[in-house]
Amino acid sequence: MHKAFSLFSGGLDSLLAARAVMEQGVDVTALHFITPFFGYKNKGKEAQAAGDFKEKYGLSVRIIDVSPEYMEMVKKPVYGYGKNFNPCLDCKIFMMKKARALMIEEGADFIISGEVLGQRPMSQRRDAMSIVERDSGLKGFLLRPLCAKLMPPTIPEEKGIIDREKLYGLSGRSRRGQMELAERFGIKDYATPAGGCMLTDPILSKRIKEFLYKREEPVDARDVQLLTVGRFFKFPAGTLHVGRNEKDNEKLVSLAGEREVIIRARDVPGPVSVFRGSPTEGEIELAARITARYSDNDGLDFMAMEVSSGQETRTIEVRPAPVSLVEELKAG
Ligand code: SF4
Repeated sequence: MHKAFSLFSGGLDSLLAARAVMEQGVDVTALHFITPFFGYKNKGKEAQAAGDFKEKYGLSVRIIDVSPEYMEMVKKPVYGYGKNFNPCLDCKIFMMKKARALMIEEGADFIISGEVLGQRPMSQRRDAMSIVERDSGLKGFLLRPLCAKLMPPTIPEEKGIIDREKLYGLSGRSRRGQMELAERFGIKDYATPAGGCMLTDPILSKRIKEFLYKREEPVDARDVQLLTVGRFFKFPAGTLHVGRNEKDNEKLVSLAGEREVIIRARDVPGPVSVFRGSPTEGEIELAARITARYSDNDGLDFMAMEVSSGQETRTIEVRPAPVSLVEELKAG
């Protein structure tokens, strides 16, 4: 039986592409890459997520965390960024190269991708699609079943592994063709296109861009996740993240490591704040004042704030910061 790997973002197009090839009797393994910018919700739950994909879509999915290398790529993409901080062309090349390595290692015949000609401005133009194929070393081995009839025949088609006549000729931004195919395959419940890539989000991508560029210490996946939670304040020594609700508070506590400073009101309900970096005493006090402002302060002049770092917890008394100061310091 012939084997192929397919790139699987979790969205409809990649799912349809894999299914279209499976229908032709090829053994397809879907590759779902995760990075701090997309797919990260499956981190630590890989087996469960793969089981869910199998049950829902009949797809065998391998979930692979490529965070460290991917983050390096995001800092200096060869082909630059799209509208926000999204290096789509380099991102595709990166993933195709990973898939290619597996193809060679495991003796698969080709790679499948759910791209549709002309659907996305940066990475799904004809010239961009050729660049991806060339730079990833997949020339001839990259089958795009959804728009294959508009592209030159690939090696699996020439070898007769795949019947070109049973592939599709979708193009443009309309989703009608994909909807019809989904119906044909009996797929009802699927994720929205783009799969929630943070690098295309105008607010989050701005935070990520500044943070990745300005920090001297290495940035890890947890740093990026922290950037996505709560209200965001920049300090000379780092960043302060103030929860907006219970869910944020829980996430902030789970993301805080030994070195982070956690601040919260001692006696009244309020947010959890996490300071990422090495704050001075003055910065801790200002962070506590900001946190106090968002707490249930009931007009109090002074509030007792708990400051925890590692195993140590102490209490400091601060005056809640005036709203004008909070607004001035808020970076997002
Ligand atoms: S939107 Fe995000 S995941 Fe998709 S190609 Fe662009 S950078 Fe990669």
